Amino acid sequence: MLKLYNTLTNQLEEFRPLNPPEVRMYVCGPTVYDYAHIGNFRTFLFADLLRRYLKYRGYRLHHVMNITDVDDKTILRAVDQKKTLREYTDQYIQFFFEDFDDLGLERPEEILRATDHLPEMVDLIKQLGANGHTYLADGSTYYRITSFKEYGRLSKMNFDGNIAGASDRMDADEYEKEDVRDFVLWKAAKPGEPSWETELGPGRPGWHIECSAMSMGALGESFDIHTGGVDLIFPHHENEIAQSEGATGKQFVRYWLHAEFLMVEGQKMAKKLGNLFTLRDLVAKGHTPRALRYLLLSAPHHKQLNFTFEGLRGAESTVERLNDFKRRLSELRPETGSTPALAEMIKHSQQQFEEGLDNDLNTAKALAAIHDFARETNSAMEQGLIKSGDQEALLGLVNRFDSIFNIFGEVKQELLDSEIQALIDERQAARAAKNFARADEIRDHLTKQGIILEDGKDGVRWRRK
Ligand code: AMP
Ligand code: ZN
Repeated sequence: MLKLYNTLTNQLEEFRPLNPPEVRMYVCGPTVYDYAHIGNFRTFLFADLLRRYLKYRGYRLHHVMNITDVDDKTILRAVDQKKTLREYTDQYIQFFFEDFDDLGLERPEEILRATDHLPEMVDLIKQLGANGHTYLADGSTYYRITSFKEYGRLSKMNFDGNIAGASDRMDADEYEKEDVRDFVLWKAAKPGEPSWETELGPGRPGWHIECSAMSMGALGESFDIHTGGVDLIFPHHENEIAQSEGATGKQFVRYWLHAEFLMVEGQKMAKKLGNLFTLRDLVAKGHTPRALRYLLLSAPHHKQLNFTFEGLRGAESTVERLNDFKRRLSELRPETGSTPALAEMIKHSQQQFEEGLDNDLNTAKALAAIHDFARETNSAMEQGLIKSGDQEALLGLVNRFDSIFNIFGEVKQELLDSEIQALIDERQAARAAKNFARADEIRDHLTKQGIILEDGKDGVRWRRK
């Protein structure tokens, strides 16, 4: 039974989606004003782990991630570089997904870009107005937080019914708890900044309204999971609840899950502190994305993780060892049959693995189960205990592990001579049938495997490169 720690209730809770087997989940995506750093990716890897384990448990995912391509920072940088907001953010969206793919994350079912969803934001703000939650000042629309009595419930702020500073206003997208104030929903246009003509007047959306409007637009007024890093609890997620529930009167999200920070020498890795690394920085120093993936997943998400190069080098050798283990296991050519003791070991390993992940996605326990399994399998290999049935079951479990962690490399299987000959025969038949596309495809496939074809008068010969 999967249990998840819910920030809203402060409890470890059994996970039960509203409409099983479907799980509707929203992940706050990147603000594309610069390269994402590896701290950001710790949070996105947590979301990837969660989605993969939900699928493993038989759920069907509807996972939505937004891209914040309009906010204080993106606008400032675009203006600075004399680019349109679209041009400026396009390039960082592209870089983001290059890193995303290199780190082996699965793409969400929907990726939504804020500036493509302004009408939904305007409608939501109008609904909030109709419900008495907003007011206008200097052309901007604000949320009156005293009008929402649950304000502070997620971030556990204690106002004793009296919100300090309320009715004073906050225009910045990001601010700290000391600055709890009415926050901006729609910002009046400023000279030199991009703005949109809407029923709310010329301007642009605040950051918080983006996620309320896009998540409910894609997933409905109430959905299962919302995630992000712990720094989003206040004000971003607190404000999202005030906006969504203030408009619909329904519970917005059932499970709020937050990933702890990636730290560097005791401080949060952050753009504004200048203590960050990007995946590109690490690759340039000779590290692999797979090692970083392992490192970032190795600590449970509710614990801070301190980034060190020593840790990264350790992850590198662990991943190499695991890949080597999988390759040796794949290359065995054992006799037929199976060993009952190994079937028991496999069952036990899988149980340990699932027990770890069922417990609030405790990756440290799940990885320990993988390492124990590899150790026992290695010793069985050394003793020559593995038969063909065991080999298949052992590799099957490795693949199950990897459907979650995605850290074992692909094992390149050498093509057998008979397989090569069969492909060559198929290519000849394709040529005879004038299906040259298929014939070329087979040749390319063989070339990639290091097989060279030589067409001669007396048929096709092949050799290994
Ligand atoms: P941003 O692009 O700044 O909107 O951040 C994207 C995501 O990264 C958010 O969910 C943040 O909470 C998260 N995040 C930012 N810094 C860190 C960090 N040092 N460790 C883990 N997650 C972070
Ligand atoms: Zn968000």
